[in-house]
Amino acid sequence: MAAEGSAKKKIGVLALQGDFEAHGKALARAGAEAVEVRSAEDLQNVDGLVIPGGESTTMWKLLEEENLLEPLREFGLRRPIFGTCAGAILLASDVSNPHQPSLGLMDIDVERNAYGRQLESRIATLQPEGLNGDLEAVFIRAPIIRRVGGDAKVLASYQGNPVLVGQGRHLVATFHPELTSDTRVHLMFLDKVP
Ligand code: GLN
Repeated sequence: MAAEGSAKKKIGVLALQGDFEAHGKALARAGAEAVEVRSAEDLQNVDGLVIPGGESTTMWKLLEEENLLEPLREFGLRRPIFGTCAGAILLASDVSNPHQPSLGLMDIDVERNAYGRQLESRIATLQPEGLNGDLEAVFIRAPIIRRVGGDAKVLASYQGNPVLVGQGRHLVATFHPELTSDTRVHLMFLDKVP
C-alpha cells in the first residue's frame, strides 16, 4: 500500500484483449495507479506492466499488428512485467500445444491448456513462498510450466507443477490473482517495481 503523500506506482495493463479491467481494479486495490496500455507510447509512461489472461494466440497477433512486440521486449529488459495465464505464455521461452512464438523474457517453457478439458477451470489453495498463509487461486484453461531454468525461482506449485515463478524483475502466474479480492500477489509484483 502506498504511504499517504507518497507517489503511487504507475502500472500499465496491456489492454489489447483479455481480462485487463479486472487487473486494473486489482492494482488499484493494491495501492497502485493502473493505466491501460495499447501503444509503444503508452509503455513509455509506466513503471511496470501487467500482461493479463485471455487468449495468447490472439494477443500475440494483436501485438504484431500494433508493432508492439519489440517495444514490449525492450520494456522487459528494463522494467518489471507480471504475466498471468496467457500473459505467462507470452513471456515464456518456449510454448507448446501448439507451438507459437513468445517474448522469451522468462526462462520457462509452457504447455498451453495442459490441465485437460475436464479441468478447464478450478479453484485451488496454494501456499506461496513469501506470502503469509493460504492463497486461493483461480485457474482458467491454464498452461502448465514444464521447465524452469536459469535463476527463475518457483514460488508456488500445484499438483507438483510450478504455478507462480519469479525471475529477476519479472513474475508469472498460471492462475488469475485479479479474480479474487486478495491483493497479496499484486503486492508481490509491486515490490519488484522501483
Ligand atoms: N488458454 C489460454 C491460452 O492458451 C490461456 C487462458 C487464460 O489466460 N485464462 O492462451
